[in-house]
Amino acid sequence: MAQTNYSILQKKTVKFLRSKKHLFINNQWVSPINNTYFPATNPADGEVLSEIPLADKYDVDKAVEAAQVAFETQWIKTSPEKKSRLIWRLSDLMERDKQVLMELETIDNGKPLDKAEYDVDSAIKHFKYYAGWATKLEGSTFPITQHSLVYTKREPLGVAALIVPWNFPLMIATWKLAPALACGNCCVLKPSEKTSLSTLYLGTLIQESGFPEGVVNIITGGGIPTGSSLVTHPSVNKISFTGSTKVGKQINGLNAHYNLKNISLELGGKSPNVIFSDADLEAVGNSLHWSSFYNSGQECTLGSRIYIQKPIFDQVVEQLKNQSQKLTIGNGLDNPDLGPLIDRQHLDKVLKYIDMGVKDGGELILGGEKLNIESLNKGNFLGPTIFIHDDDSLPIVQDEIFGPVVVVSSFDSFEQVIDRSNSSNFGLTSAVWTKSHSTALKFVDAINAGTVWINGYDQFNPAVPFGGFKDSGIGKEMGKNAIEEYTREKAVWFNY
Ligand code: NAD
Repeated sequence: MAQTNYSILQKKTVKFLRSKKHLFINNQWVSPINNTYFPATNPADGEVLSEIPLADKYDVDKAVEAAQVAFETQWIKTSPEKKSRLIWRLSDLMERDKQVLMELETIDNGKPLDKAEYDVDSAIKHFKYYAGWATKLEGSTFPITQHSLVYTKREPLGVAALIVPWNFPLMIATWKLAPALACGNCCVLKPSEKTSLSTLYLGTLIQESGFPEGVVNIITGGGIPTGSSLVTHPSVNKISFTGSTKVGKQINGLNAHYNLKNISLELGGKSPNVIFSDADLEAVGNSLHWSSFYNSGQECTLGSRIYIQKPIFDQVVEQLKNQSQKLTIGNGLDNPDLGPLIDRQHLDKVLKYIDMGVKDGGELILGGEKLNIESLNKGNFLGPTIFIHDDDSLPIVQDEIFGPVVVVSSFDSFEQVIDRSNSSNFGLTSAVWTKSHSTALKFVDAINAGTVWINGYDQFNPAVPFGGFKDSGIGKEMGKNAIEEYTREKAVWFNY
């Protein structure tokens, strides 16, 4: 069933798709020990794109051992300048093959090509940013007493297990890989079983860049046994996990029980997007449909709880509905605004929530049904779905649906909207729209979220820390914070 239009893909993309896939261990492409594979499927049309190796515990052992040996014998001896050059070279090769990476991301994940371009650009920027950090890993000195030199030195942790979700496969892999390498760690990278292709292609570029063998290893497979064998492996020193809160808590539990490895968890979200009546409504109108439905709602940071102050409620809701109706939906290769959901199982989960929302008395003002368009029938397409409801205790308001579904609600006062915004187990991101500096800064003080956007949404930069509070996670990615996540600091007392 060949439906993907291969003729518009780069030759390199097609060649890679047709090539046999392997695990990447010690700079070599190797078959999984059990010779077991699983399909990579295009969510836009159900086509099987490639067969992906399923790594079991034995393969994980090999990858971790390769990383450990590389750490002890190679990477630790590599000068910061050389590390920096290698990381930069990798980013250059990604720029060269940017179109291939975009195409792989689009057909494997479903996202539109221009959104995949944003992801690849962001990944490249991350490598360039952290290439600079490799030469700047400093400690501190402390003037404590006479005749003593007291200082700290920053050291790599060792073997880092990097576990990535399916919604931004390449970009999130880079958020982890770039600082981990710059800090001197060796890595075992595991993409989601739903989106392995761009990471495996990255492996070819890592090989071409000239990294010493074993510095980066890539294993593919699902949560159990691949991911679980990795996080419980005694030679892994660092776990960096991005994914659901449920799995993050499981991993944290395992870690507490067995290992006490350094751990960072970037988990789910259900972010409040708060619009006061003095907001610039044109700016709100240009942003709200994107902050609700970007990546078909499959993004942890999206503003899926929208609170609008009463005097402007009807106007803003109307604006959101109109703009959302205009969003085009289709196969990512045709560059629509929104692509499909990742798979049928996920679509069914989202549809169940919509059903629940209706039964709980939500007023469904847009969407809510799988799209019934002949050309899209084989994909997992669902259009923007908007509920109006004022009960914050409902599952559609409390749970992370991770699809194109938002709940809109009205509020009266600042105090009320703060209470409602904070009445969530999550605390990833938030946004406030107002012309009043005082309202904006009071919101910043009161909100329980790791990021606050004022009169904007979903802005990121490799230099700015990102990470959630409460059930949204532990630790930060990006910026100087990521350097702290991938190093340990040793205090030295030298009495002379
Ligand atoms: P998931 O938790 O199902 O899987 C994430 C990764 O963990 C995958 O690679 C998976 O194979 C692996 N995994 C699953 N079970 C495991 C186990 N027992 N041990 C080790 N590894 C295991 O999440 P998902 O469905 O891939 O991604 C969606 C979730 O990710 C959403 O909740 C979303 O909010 C979250 N997310 C968070 C951020 C952030 O930065 N906070 C960014 C993107 C996505």
